[in-house]
Amino acid sequence: MNLSIDELKNRVPLRTVLSNYGFADLPERSGKHFTCFFPERHAGGDQNPSCNFYSGAGGHEHFKCFSCGAGGDQFDFVEQWEGVNTAEAKKIICSIGGLDGGNQSFQAKRRQQPTFKAPENRVDEQEPIIWPNDLHSGSLNDWQAVADLRNLDVQSVNLATVSGVLKFGTVHGLPCWIVTDKSKLSAEARTISGENFSHGAKVHTLKNSQKSWPVGIALKHSTPELFSKIALVEGSADLLAAYHFNHVLLKMDYLPVAILGKENKKIHPEALKLFKGRHVRIFPHNDADGGGVEAGQRWAEQVHEAGAESIDGFDFSNLARIDGKPVSDLNDCTILCENDQNQIEQLLA
Ligand SMILES: [Zn+2]
Repeated sequence: MNLSIDELKNRVPLRTVLSNYGFADLPERSGKHFTCFFPERHAGGDQNPSCNFYSGAGGHEHFKCFSCGAGGDQFDFVEQWEGVNTAEAKKIICSIGGLDGGNQSFQAKRRQQPTFKAPENRVDEQEPIIWPNDLHSGSLNDWQAVADLRNLDVQSVNLATVSGVLKFGTVHGLPCWIVTDKSKLSAEARTISGENFSHGAKVHTLKNSQKSWPVGIALKHSTPELFSKIALVEGSADLLAAYHFNHVLLKMDYLPVAILGKENKKIHPEALKLFKGRHVRIFPHNDADGGGVEAGQRWAEQVHEAGAESIDGFDFSNLARIDGKPVSDLNDCTILCENDQNQIEQLLA
């Protein structure tokens, strides 16, 4: 018997998995907060319960911590709790449900002690992001369209999809590409056609996004600490461009991370912790008003304080595009003029 993921989620719901790990006394209905499953991710534990249930993709129950960003379905829980990949998580979930395909010797690592407390009258300011109903990973045609639109290698677009930072869906009636990450705290959409939304904007931030969250830092990867370096860029186009250069330069040690707009000068405190011990290269936009460079300096100060191993910046100001125009960002570097081609090697050196 080989169940589909959807069927498996129906047979072994999130709460069944949680009770197997010793989390049984959870609120009945969604909307009531409880202590995060990962108190160690909070400074001083999750003092003000910040976790919640909601009905997510496929109508399956999901959890979400508004403080540390942990969340997802039963697979996400098992992956994070056990530190395993999706295939291992599937075996574990089968074991818990007593289904074929399980790992017979599996023993759930139960939590140390019950620490749940029912919060009283807590008002939470932060609601989950409102996603398009048709959110999906895209088809080859979608990936090719984005690759053509932004002058990227289509395989790097696929890499971004696999890494969980690129999704697709309909926003304001238009087919869009959407950048986000495993934290699901922030998401931004742009149209696949490249046209503006009907209200004239080029970019649409999905409702309830926390714009201080640097997208890409929470990677869908079993060992994200393998990335010893971070390429910190501005905006969703540069995020994909960073995946492009990782791919074409075969430099997989840089984790692409994007702050969605230079107006976001403060980086989310939970995200800042993830910069600790890593080398950070910042790629500030080379705008006429200097706003990109100024924002880059603010980010550099914060990641320095958070304990980044080292920090440097890339300067686009002397480079030109194939059409003779000056390079203003990392995405422009995918169409560098011939004389400047040798600079590409330096991007992620
Ligand atoms: Zn948490």
